[in-house]
Amino acid sequence: MGSGAVTQVLSVASEVAPILKTGGLADVAGALPAALEPFGARMRTLMPGYPQVMRSLGEHEVVARFPDCFGGAAELLAAEVAGLDLLILSAPHLFDRGGGPYLSPAGSDWPDNPERFAALSWAAAQIANGAIEDWQPEIVHCHDWQAGLAPYYIARSSAAGRVPTVITIHNIAFQGLAPAWKMQALKIAPVDFTADGLEYWGQISALKAGLVFADQLTTVSPTYAAELMTAEFGMGLEGVMRARKDSFTGILNGIDEATWSPATDAAITTYTTGSGKAANKAALQQEFGMAEASGPLCVVVSRLSEQKGLDLLIEALPALLARGGQLALLGSGDKGLEAAFQRMAGPNVGIRIGYDEGLSHRMMAGGDAILVPSRFEPCGLTQLYGLRYGTLPLVALTGGLADTVIPASPATMAREVATGIQFFPVTAASLAHALEQLCDLYAQPEHWTKMQQNAMSQPVGWDQSAARYAELYERLLAK
Ligand code: ADP
Repeated sequence: MGSGAVTQVLSVASEVAPILKTGGLADVAGALPAALEPFGARMRTLMPGYPQVMRSLGEHEVVARFPDCFGGAAELLAAEVAGLDLLILSAPHLFDRGGGPYLSPAGSDWPDNPERFAALSWAAAQIANGAIEDWQPEIVHCHDWQAGLAPYYIARSSAAGRVPTVITIHNIAFQGLAPAWKMQALKIAPVDFTADGLEYWGQISALKAGLVFADQLTTVSPTYAAELMTAEFGMGLEGVMRARKDSFTGILNGIDEATWSPATDAAITTYTTGSGKAANKAALQQEFGMAEASGPLCVVVSRLSEQKGLDLLIEALPALLARGGQLALLGSGDKGLEAAFQRMAGPNVGIRIGYDEGLSHRMMAGGDAILVPSRFEPCGLTQLYGLRYGTLPLVALTGGLADTVIPASPATMAREVATGIQFFPVTAASLAHALEQLCDLYAQPEHWTKMQQNAMSQPVGWDQSAARYAELYERLLAK
């Protein structure tokens, strides 16, 4: 591939697991470099120098200096952290603060988020144009709105033989909007502030900049790719997606099997077949203060937001409890939903509000089923963990959930391919019905065990998808 045997790729992401994670984007950004290596791509990852990142730095090198980077001086550091080849934009005036990567400690967006992530994108463009003395990428692969301006800056830079760019949409709901008066501060030329450019209803959209100016667009499942071209799911950008449909494709996320594998997971009692889950289930019930029950123990590990459809679960839960089922939920986010779930807590309903990586592993190992009733879901990772752990996914029929779960039906049971349950439309009534179907299946151990086997043997790692990204890079380089 590329000029040599190995293609040099710069990945640009605002969060990267295991260093800093708020959602699936971090898992993907963290897993891609190792996944791509066997396919002849070397990926270096550019991320912001948040305090968590700076603290995890051991030995490092300053590889570039930007004296004037969006209101202050910045340095580009190179370091290996957690096996990742990182480039870190150390810009204390933008990133050295408490709170999360996007939110202040009080929970509101930082007002200068447009500048913070424009700086990240601009640094990516500098690297693409040769800012580092001994390394230059052949491809720049951007993730979500936080890296959306990079394809724009690269497209508009004067450097000859510019580097091809890819942008991956992990969630179109986050568009990186900024008021038009920030145009100059964000280094955007007024000629590009048009409907064909990066203007979105009178505002600047960093995501749209990426969608318009990148050479290739991807999203994280084939079904979400099709959905994004419709008004129902495109969130106002469906026209842009349709205009670029010849350069747009869906590539499913995989899971990092080094971290998520029941045979080796250090957080659990390891197992290789569904029957090996029993010790984990008993431990999880104890952890949530629950007794044994006749029905399935359902788990949820999720951000609590409108997207995830968990308000529907509150309404549908009686259907599960009436059949002897149990619920253990780990999540945080919307305060109203947090409170509503806390009110549901009881002998068969365990609620943990917060973010807890270790507990998420124990829940995956100890649960019988994992519930993902999302209204939209670009790919979804927890149903993939569920498959791997023999924790059968019950999911809404949308996005990546539609692409990764094979619903139980007489035909799929007969062909021994069923791995879970899907419901549609995404309403409380149809979720309640699906929960009843789940309880029925659970009451038939022969079927349940077979489905666990099917689920645990379904490939959910990165191999196939990494090959598709590698092909895509190759095609771009051949142009
Ligand atoms: P999204 O990116 O929309 O939040 P995904 O399913 O793609 O959804 O990824 C969510 C990731 O975050 C998964 O790895 C999931 O295990 C993790 N996660 C979500 N909420 C929590 C939590 N409260 N505690 C631990 N891990 C969580």
